[in-house]
Amino acid sequence: MAPVERTKGTRKLMYQRRTKRMEETGRCPDCRGRGRTRAVIHEFYYEPAKDCSACGGDGSYRSWQQRKKKA
Ligand SMILES: [Zn+2]
Repeated sequence: MAPVERTKGTRKLMYQRRTKRMEETGRCPDCRGRGRTRAVIHEFYYEPAKDCSACGGDGSYRSWQQRKKKA
């Protein structure tokens, strides 16, 4: 269990760091300012790129933050 916990903590830390950097640049951390998610190509399914649900598709940090507060 210990390695899993450590991985979780690291991922959270990485996300926080990225969030901070995106805050400075004013971009949505989830889509990195593109406003769209990346298409996911997997062996069994294909998920096309769509508007980023975290910021509503405009890619700005402000939109991301507002939507996060509501959730
Ligand atoms: Zn976004």
